[in-house]
Amino acid sequence: MSGVSDADRHAVDWDQIRAWDEEYYAHVFVTADEYEHRAIVGTDGDFIELSDGTRLLDFTSGLLCTNAGHRNERIRNAIVEALDRYGFVWEGWATDYRARAAKLIIDDLLGPDDWAGRVRFTSSGSEAVELALLVAKLVTDRPNVISRDFAYHGWTHGALSLMGLPGSRGILAAADSREIRRPAGVPMQGVHFAPAPYCFSCPIGHTYPACKRGADTLACIDSLEHLIRTLGPDSIAAVVAEPIFGVGMFHPPAEYLTQLRELTREYGILWIDDEVMTGFGRTGKAFAYQHSAGVTPDLMALGKGMVSAALPAGGVVMSRAVCEVMDRYRWETVSTFAGHPVVMAAVAANIEWMIEERIPERATELGRYLGSRLQELADSHPCVAEVAGAGLLWAVELVRPDGSGERFAPDDRHGLPSGDHSFSPSFFLAGECEKRGVALATAPPNTLRVGPPLNTTEAHIDLGIEALRGALDELARVDTPSRSAG
Ligand code: PLP
Repeated sequence: MSGVSDADRHAVDWDQIRAWDEEYYAHVFVTADEYEHRAIVGTDGDFIELSDGTRLLDFTSGLLCTNAGHRNERIRNAIVEALDRYGFVWEGWATDYRARAAKLIIDDLLGPDDWAGRVRFTSSGSEAVELALLVAKLVTDRPNVISRDFAYHGWTHGALSLMGLPGSRGILAAADSREIRRPAGVPMQGVHFAPAPYCFSCPIGHTYPACKRGADTLACIDSLEHLIRTLGPDSIAAVVAEPIFGVGMFHPPAEYLTQLRELTREYGILWIDDEVMTGFGRTGKAFAYQHSAGVTPDLMALGKGMVSAALPAGGVVMSRAVCEVMDRYRWETVSTFAGHPVVMAAVAANIEWMIEERIPERATELGRYLGSRLQELADSHPCVAEVAGAGLLWAVELVRPDGSGERFAPDDRHGLPSGDHSFSPSFFLAGECEKRGVALATAPPNTLRVGPPLNTTEAHIDLGIEALRGALDELARVDTPSRSAG
């Protein structure tokens, strides 16, 4: 059911909207000339609706964030209720909504894992990462931070500095030349990169599981240890790591996170667990670290699914050990919007929904179904080399259909988006899926992301898969010159 009535749609002058949008908004990913205006008039559950009346299945939950679907009624009602009570309250004051949201996270969701002390709220995932970096540096009094190739942690200065995808570092990319403008000072001083655990195409040339030393330690973990020892463990505040690469879009091998955590503990370095995309049920657990037995973080960054993207929100959970240090001091910082009562009401409603509806379990069951449908594509389609996923976060690895196993975009995750964009199969597939009624937000060129809302249905998954199958058939027909063909 669409949430947009004809009367609503016609009440807006969409030609005027186009003119204002084209003239006054600062758009991303395209030059002003390249921009193509497209407006969404409303959203509803798994669907978005365009101004021409087209309805599209939102098969990546916006940006992997509308976990409860668009306009979830329970969250909506909580927002309306809070708006009726509060305009604004700054974080020096408490509200019932903020206390409830904090209790739900620390006690209900994380209590059984026995590590979490307190949470502080932000307005986005990037700010959460920024805040986690600040806390790690304050608590350890150390200057260095380790991130990983192909990691994504956000767009603010510190978070951007952790970016392991060079094309996404906030750069300006020229359309008519190869010119790239990079923001000075990014990455910031003290940030170092360890190899990505990307086994499908290992950046340090290994093959899983033959890469393991003594049939145990992964080669990328050995490299991380080498980096730690080279820098000096007592100079490193934290290793920042997403359990699953959400924008880089791949799933590390099962033992990776356990080994990363053992290493950080052994060397006394904090682990900042970036769960901005993977948190709140997305991967079939409340948080993705819970897939690895015995693993718990020191700091955890939250965002997106914390409020099913109904309002801007993020947060940082601090371990009890971190809180022991922080609690002894006056923390001289404030954010105008931290703990905003209306946002907190939405966060609390979202988490209560997630707990009562057993959303992580549901994501696991639906993920099994989605995985089996994607595996059918992998088994039958020459452009799909591999699929991997957890819960409702899936990656589809794309290769040329000629059996060579070659990628369409050879630079893959190192590519820069200037000049004539080299052909991106994931963008091509997104375009073809849209013609078939399905919207996909893509990231790396050779890997497609699939991640419907956590309360989707098997019927909607079937819709998405059929669109994808048709789009893949088109991809197989595209004639792009392969590298081996010169
Ligand atoms: N961290 C991760 C893992 C993300 O996936 C994202 C966004 O995609 C962020 C941080 C940044 O979040 P936001 O866009 O809310 O600032």
